[in-house]
Amino acid sequence: MMPRNRIGVITGAGGALCGSLARNLASDGSKLLLLDINRKKVEKLAEEIKDSGGHAVGLCRDVLNRESLEEALGLMENLWGPPHFLINGAGGNSPKATTREEFYEKDSERSFPDIPMEDLEDSFRLNFFGTILPTQVFTKPMLEQGRGSVVNFSSMSAITPLTKVAAYSAAKAAVSNFTKWLAVHYSRTGVRVNALAPGFMMTEQLKYLHLDKNGEYTERAKKVLSHTPFERYGRPEELAGTVRWLITEESSFVTGAVIPIDGGFSSYTI
Ligand code: NAD
Repeated sequence: MMPRNRIGVITGAGGALCGSLARNLASDGSKLLLLDINRKKVEKLAEEIKDSGGHAVGLCRDVLNRESLEEALGLMENLWGPPHFLINGAGGNSPKATTREEFYEKDSERSFPDIPMEDLEDSFRLNFFGTILPTQVFTKPMLEQGRGSVVNFSSMSAITPLTKVAAYSAAKAAVSNFTKWLAVHYSRTGVRVNALAPGFMMTEQLKYLHLDKNGEYTERAKKVLSHTPFERYGRPEELAGTVRWLITEESSFVTGAVIPIDGGFSSYTI
């Protein structure tokens, strides 16, 4: 059981994985500041949590805008006090920064040499700087309190890059690297920094590469399943146990860990 009345921030809370996490943590009495660039989704989630007796505020915020994050922090501190934890969930791959083919083909519609730099930069900015900036803002009060826990979202793609998603993979590798860097940098402050490396969780974001128009598995999906010893996709709620552990004192000696939650994907060769 989690200690009650913990205060936390979740970015990307309007999304599949962090929405599921928010519901889970709210059910134990955590007070949650939910941030997402999608106003409708994040406000709806906050209402849903409040309707079921939980505590949540949902705000439309861009993780790449420092001022608006600082303003959200001020609001949270007035309402509940400084945060105990931060979950950096905002992120994702963009189809625009994805090659059409796994292996280079001269006449491909979207081959690597032709992907516009802005699209590669957007993916990198969201996943990497969209983790760094909220961490700068929301760990300030944690440092003042001498305690806190940050949970970043890396990916399987950080360990061995998945085909097609060049910028996303590089950005997630940067998130893993930054997690370890900051864990050491903050190691004498009481603030711990870890990351999840989820495998393939069946969410909206994944569907465009994994399900065809008829809802059937694509060739890519079949490959994923044959490379996942559990022979299935993960479910969003399967992240909650690890996150609950990371944000409580049960993991008090754990920092700089990047934890695969992947049904064995990253451990498997043949
Ligand atoms: P999702 O698209 O459902 O959620 C991501 C959320 O981030 C969305 O609600 C989106 O509106 C929000 N967002 C995007 N840009 C933002 C910005 N600038 N500011 C604030 N919010 C912004 O995706 P998901 O599958 O729930 O993924 C959550 C995290 O997990 C991401 O970092 C993703 O890369 C990572 N991840 C997902 C999988 C998977 O299998 N789904 C696997 C590995 C890692």
